[in-house]
Amino acid sequence: MTRPTLEVADILRAQGDRFLERYRSSFGFQQLKAFRAILRCRTAALGGHRDACLRCGYQTISYNSCRNRHCPKCQAQARERWLAARERELFDTSYFHVVFTVPHELNVLALENPRLFYDLLFTASAQTLLEIASDPKHLGAEVIPAGGLSLDHRRWVRPRYPFFLPVKVLSRVFRGKFLAGLKRLHRRKKLQCAGPAAALADYKQFAKLLRRLHRHDWVVYAKPAFGGPMQVLRYLGRYTHRVAISNHRLVAFERERVTFRWKDYARGGKQGQMTLAAIEFLRRFFLHVLPKGFVRIRHFGFLANRFRASHLALGRQLLASSGSREQEVKTNDARSESSSLWHCPRCGAAMIVIQRFTAVELSACIYFDSS
Ligand SMILES: [Zn+2]
Ligand SMILES: [Zn+2]
Repeated sequence: MTRPTLEVADILRAQGDRFLERYRSSFGFQQLKAFRAILRCRTAALGGHRDACLRCGYQTISYNSCRNRHCPKCQAQARERWLAARERELFDTSYFHVVFTVPHELNVLALENPRLFYDLLFTASAQTLLEIASDPKHLGAEVIPAGGLSLDHRRWVRPRYPFFLPVKVLSRVFRGKFLAGLKRLHRRKKLQCAGPAAALADYKQFAKLLRRLHRHDWVVYAKPAFGGPMQVLRYLGRYTHRVAISNHRLVAFERERVTFRWKDYARGGKQGQMTLAAIEFLRRFFLHVLPKGFVRIRHFGFLANRFRASHLALGRQLLASSGSREQEVKTNDARSESSSLWHCPRCGAAMIVIQRFTAVELSACIYFDSS
């Protein structure tokens, strides 16, 4: 991808002070942190580093990145790092992509209670998979291998159904768990029912909605990852590592106005252009800053953090000795080289950091590659 000519950081540099003057009082700590990080990302203020090519010796000096998850410059790199890490965890077996959906009638509650809602979505879907796959029990969350470690951890269990698990059963169990969780939250008065969801504060209305939702089949589908698990991971990465707007969508910044491309989902995803006052553009941008600790990716089953390393090693070993598929597990060396994120522009080999600079040290440097 080519480097964008215009960046959110440029708009911040030009209009950030005026913007803060107006909105500082309504800014949370995470928003201020993102604001500062984006402003300083890949400038001398964050220091820098010297990289060297392991093969031909080529060297280059670059500014450091802020690594804030809301920084448009860092999001693409963060996604690549995430993909490389997930790739190292893949097994040499087939995978399924399972999607759990929630009826749109619940949108009003989701908007009022994003954190509770997503927590519930993650736990209900993961528990459903774990429970239903009681034979091959240990499974991951959204992208899951067809099969898994046996309960006693002695062998790799292959699925008996062509679609890995019966989707109808998944759908019913998921619905039951999700609605039970929602009911629990309502009973403990943890659900915010404001705005369009106001009527649901009344328990009778809420119970009526639950009964209606119980009567319909919820949509759950599972499909084999035909293009291979990496393709599904790339698809997920588009959603999991997303900032409010990517720099590539910025078109112009003139006379305090910002023009950008956007997709009109109400009209079938047609591309359009919108122009906003820079201050309003920044206000909308920072509305998307997530609360601290809010995660869009969670690992369950054998990928749960506590057991990940040991289960991965064991799974590889058992899968390899179970016979029918390719038994060669790629060596870690080959994988880490192919997934290295920064390649030499001269010979394509992996580059490594050989020296780090502070902001003060950098002020003495003349030549710079801030790419
Ligand atoms: Zn950054
Ligand atoms: Zn090189």
